[in-house]
Amino acid sequence: MDCKRSLHAFIVVSIITMFLISGHVDADGDSCKYSPGHIRLATGHRTRQWGQMQCCVYCGEPDETRDHLFFACPYTFTLWLNVVGNLFGPDPDPDWKITLQRMLGGTYERLTYILLRLVWQTTIYFIWRERNDRRHNGTVKSVDQLARLIKKSMKNRISSTRYYLKPRLQGLMQRWFQAHS
Ligand SMILES: [Zn+2]
Repeated sequence: MDCKRSLHAFIVVSIITMFLISGHVDADGDSCKYSPGHIRLATGHRTRQWGQMQCCVYCGEPDETRDHLFFACPYTFTLWLNVVGNLFGPDPDPDWKITLQRMLGGTYERLTYILLRLVWQTTIYFIWRERNDRRHNGTVKSVDQLARLIKKSMKNRISSTRYYLKPRLQGLMQRWFQAHS
């Protein structure tokens, strides 16, 4: 249960971070009431409700919903498969709700679970940042380019834990490399 509670807290922090980074605030200003199933991104689906049409910048799908971005979109799902490696087991699913259920209800070895949460948060951040870059700056990164940035960021984040000094985190970097070997 502690793990599940900490994952809920982690998801809330992730989403708030995303809003802070992206500069998007929900239309009704209700940015504190998050739950894992109700992430309120200012996706095209929502902005359409405000009278503005937006399609997915990655694949052209006309309805840019949260579920499409994470990870039903062919671009983002290919990216997710690339960066998550074997942390999620053999069959990561493109469905947002199934992904959340598996993160909340799955049984993972401790280091795997730490890395899974980290890579999930990092991937969502980079997908959202790339989405905004494409929309506002016209720059485009390939799946491989974005995957390299995510993996570099993961290595930095793992190093910043000073895992080698902490018995509970011993082997964290090794597990990360093993996930992609
Ligand atoms: Zn798409």
